[in-house]
Amino acid sequence: AEKIDILGVKVDSVTMAQAVAQVEGYMDERKNVLIATANAEMIMRATHDTELKDILNDAALVVPDGAGTVWAAHHLGYEMPERVAGFDLAQELMRIAPSKKQKVFFFGSAPGVAEKAKAKAEELYPGIEIVGTRDGYFKPEDEPAIIEEIKAAQPDLLLAALGVPKQEKWLNAHLKELGVPVAIGVGGTLDVMAG
Ligand code: UDP
Repeated sequence: AEKIDILGVKVDSVTMAQAVAQVEGYMDERKNVLIATANAEMIMRATHDTELKDILNDAALVVPDGAGTVWAAHHLGYEMPERVAGFDLAQELMRIAPSKKQKVFFFGSAPGVAEKAKAKAEELYPGIEIVGTRDGYFKPEDEPAIIEEIKAAQPDLLLAALGVPKQEKWLNAHLKELGVPVAIGVGGTLDVMAG
């Protein structure tokens, strides 16, 4: 899809259906990629956080999350078909996961939240394999064990809810070692699922 430069962040002009197909392709091919969901807040932050900007511009896919991102693209004179919210993208991928036997790991949010989100996912998407959960409040010395836990679980899809920009920076730093086909920073998604 066409990449649209919004304040230096290249956002993919994709529909939800196109985004889902692209992410499914990465999982089928067992790539090792980072996906980001760019809302206005993230794009604004990237204007003064070059590490974040570089990570976003290296990501395999940056979806237009939020009305602000779609508005900005239109304002700049580009096509941007629709908003692709991180929450909705995660739900679409989880809906497909059981039929493709794709395993999912929930990393992030406060203690107990990921477990509640897992129970919700199992209710919404029968047969889904949530192969691990881990909260997002950890010390640097806990990181090797977290990485081992995720690697051992061998998820196809890692949903990381550590907030922006922590999730993008953490995933970028550890993506290779984790070896997961697809990792997505999903912000408050687990909180919303946990209710
Ligand atoms: N979070 C976390 N570890 C941290 C900081 C935040 O796991 O060190 C979680 C927090 O509990 C929440 C999510 O990250 O579940 C951030 O959600 P928010 O809606 O603030 O996302 P953002 O707008 O930053 O994408």
